[in-house]
Amino acid sequence: MEAEGPNPGTCCRCDLPVTHRALIAIIETGSGPGGSAYACLPCARDYAKTSLAPDWIGETIAHAEAIRLAWDEAEQRRRTGPDDETPTLL
Ligand SMILES: [Zn+2]
Repeated sequence: MEAEGPNPGTCCRCDLPVTHRALIAIIETGSGPGGSAYACLPCARDYAKTSLAPDWIGETIAHAEAIRLAWDEAEQRRRTGPDDETPTLL
């Protein structure tokens, strides 16, 4: 089981390096190793509207979005430091 986290890399559609990508296609070659195609979220959403999109694409996009949200929140916490605004009640 892989750790949940962002999936940084290059978008297979716009070629931009991004932190969060969604799986948009599984390339099956029949023989030899296949591959997976990952796109940035805007490209993935665009691709989802095409007839080429697999029917599970909504799930992988939602998953990537959820990770992005969690990651952004963690990033914000790192930036603002420890929660000194929140009073400790004990
Ligand atoms: Zn893209």
